[in-house]
Amino acid sequence: MNALNMAEVQGQGYIGQALGVADLLAVVYQDVLNHRPDDPEWPERDRLLLSIGHYAIALYAALAEAGVLDVAELETYGSDDSRLPMSGMASYTPGMEISGGSLGHGLGIATGLALGLRHQGSPARVYNLLSDGELDEGSTWEAALACAHHGLDNVTAIVDVNALQADGPTQGVLRTEPVTAKWEAFGWHAIRVDGNDVDALVTAFDDLRAHRGSPTVLVCDTRIGHGVPMLETREKAHFMRVEEHEWQIARDQLAERFRAGEGEGPTESPDGGPSTTADKEHTV
Ligand SMILES: [Mg+2]
Repeated sequence: MNALNMAEVQGQGYIGQALGVADLLAVVYQDVLNHRPDDPEWPERDRLLLSIGHYAIALYAALAEAGVLDVAELETYGSDDSRLPMSGMASYTPGMEISGGSLGHGLGIATGLALGLRHQGSPARVYNLLSDGELDEGSTWEAALACAHHGLDNVTAIVDVNALQADGPTQGVLRTEPVTAKWEAFGWHAIRVDGNDVDALVTAFDDLRAHRGSPTVLVCDTRIGHGVPMLETREKAHFMRVEEHEWQIARDQLAERFRAGEGEGPTESPDGGPSTTADKEHTV
């Protein structure tokens, strides 16, 4: 709901992705990250790197709920002099660990950070949220090799598999499936879940945190626009334009879905939902 309110300020944006990862970020901030909302620079904090800088709107929404940002500040999203630019900027925003607009760099930064933290004897963990589009980037796989080579079990990659990227459905742009098998071949402990199933996410993160000896990856199948039927079915969903009168409809639909119980547990997409355990081919 925070993300819808922010996107309305601009009349457009990456709202489909924000709704898609809202459940994931809720779990990360509520149940996974060891952090101090009033001290975002706390040295022992777990780091969440937003490799996908254009998902900043989703992270701001989560940071507000986590108490790092004031909800009232969200109204400044994308405005001049705001601390909340449309793409994530580490020097602007408390809780934004990296500037991630240039895709494919988050995992490399995570690898370096994790090596440094291990060298310091820090218990902090590094999470890197990346997109399925970033699996097209060679730098992602270089980092995946290095991370596994160094046995960095303080790293968890989180891949948002929404099966869509800027130029269209991922399957048509550059096929990346089977995603889980690829990470495993690179030496990672991998789990795949429905990224809009809160219980499945909680269980998976518990498993990954307990794993030792290699980096871990959570492959999350998410649905663009999740929770707002009008947006779930919209074409060209990578960067959405939403008409002025539609924002309230979107909020009403999200509220209705939540009242119906879908905001509190596992959900089903019209085709029965993605697999929670195995790779599958996707269509949009
Ligand atoms: Mg994508």
